[in-house]
Amino acid sequence: MSLPQFKLLRPRTQAEAVDFLARHSPHVQVIAGGTDLIPSMRQKLFEPRYVLDITGIAELRDIRRTPAGVEIGALATLAQVERSPLLRELYPVLCEAAATVASPVLRNMGTLGGNICLDTRCLWYNQSLAWRKGCGFCIKKDGNLCHVAPGGDFCWATFSGDTPPALLCLEAEIEIAGPQGARRLPLREFYTGAGDRYRNLQNNELVTRVFLPAAMAGYRGVYRKLRLRGSIDYPLAGVAVALKRSNGHIADARVALTAVNPAPLLVKGATEALSGQALTEELALRVGDLAARAAKPLTTSVLTPEYRREMVRVFTTRALRQAAD
Ligand SMILES: Cc1cc2nc3c(=O)[nH]c(=O)nc-3n(C[C@H](O)[C@H](O)[C@H](O)COP(=O)(O)OP(=O)(O)OC[C@H]3O[C@@H](n4cnc5c(N)ncnc54)[C@H](O)[C@@H]3O)c2cc1C
Repeated sequence: MSLPQFKLLRPRTQAEAVDFLARHSPHVQVIAGGTDLIPSMRQKLFEPRYVLDITGIAELRDIRRTPAGVEIGALATLAQVERSPLLRELYPVLCEAAATVASPVLRNMGTLGGNICLDTRCLWYNQSLAWRKGCGFCIKKDGNLCHVAPGGDFCWATFSGDTPPALLCLEAEIEIAGPQGARRLPLREFYTGAGDRYRNLQNNELVTRVFLPAAMAGYRGVYRKLRLRGSIDYPLAGVAVALKRSNGHIADARVALTAVNPAPLLVKGATEALSGQALTEELALRVGDLAARAAKPLTTSVLTPEYRREMVRVFTTRALRQAAD
C-alpha cells in the first residue's frame, strides 16, 4: 500500500506553521510523529495535497513547570511524557497512560498532541481502499451507510487514544493556534461525541500546548487498559481514575473512559458519589456501574460490546480500590 503523492511542508516556527495552514487549507494535513497518520494515508483514508510536518518546531517540545501548573508542548513525545520526573511526581496517571500506548518505538515517535488529535477507529474504517470498496464504504469515509448501526446516519467510530482519559481526569486544557491567533479550551470541549467529525478543530488550526492545573497536582492515579496483546495494541476499553485523599476519605475524584464511545469522556456522577466518602466495596461497585452505563461500545472492534462494557465496570472498581488504598 503505497503513500499517495503529496508536497511536504516543514515550518520551523509556530507562526510559520499557522501561515502554511492558512494558505493551503483545506488541502493540508498536519503530521507530528506520523505513527497513526502514515498507516492511514497508506490505506487512502487521507490523501492531502500538502502534509505539514510540525516536528521542526522546537518551541512545542518542552515540558515545563509554570506558576499555574505544568505546560506540555504538543510535540512532546509519549516517551518524554512517560519518563518526565516532573509529570511522574505531580500527575502520575498521565505517565501511566502514556506508558501503555503501542510500543517503545512508537512512543519515541508518537506525540502527546497526536494522541489527543488521534482519528477515531472502526473495524469498517481502518482498512485498505480495496477492502472498504468491497464493503460499499462507510459513513465516515466515502460512503453513506453505517455497518455498525445500519439504518442510522450517526458514525460510531471509537476514540481510542490512551492519554485523553487521564488528561480529562486532570482537567487539562489545550491551546489551539489558527489564523485568528491562539485560543484555549478545556479538553472535554475538544471532542464532539460523533465518530466522523470527532474534534472541534478546523483544518487551518493546530493543537500547540496542553496545560495541567496546579490544583490537580499530587492526585493519585491509575489507568487500566483492555487490549488483545500486551503491547502494540490500541485500547478496546480504558479507564482512568484520579483522586485526592484526606484523613482516610476521598476528598475529590474523577473517572474517565476511552475506547468505548466516539469521544473520551468523564463519567457523570462519579465525582459526586466519591467525594467526602471512604471507599467501601459497595461504593466502588456503584461507581463501576456508573462507568459501565456511560460506556456505549458497539461492534467497532474485535471484542464484543458486552465484554468491553463489563470490563469497564471491572477496571473502574479495581482502579478505584488501587488509587484509594
Ligand atoms: C501498531 C500501532 C499501535 C498503536 N497503539 C496505540 C495505543 O495503544 N494507544 C494509542 O493511544 N495510540 C496507539 N497508536 C496510535 C499512535 O501511535 C499514537 O496515538 C500517537 O500518540 C499518535 O501521535 P503522532 O504524533 O504519531 O500522531 P500523527 O500520526 O502524526 O497524527 C495523528 C492525527 O493527529 C493529527 N495531529 C497530530 N498532531 C497534531 C497537532 N499538534 N495539531 C493538530 N493535529 C495534529 C494528525 O493530522 C492526524 O490526524 C498505535 C499506532 C500503531 C501504528
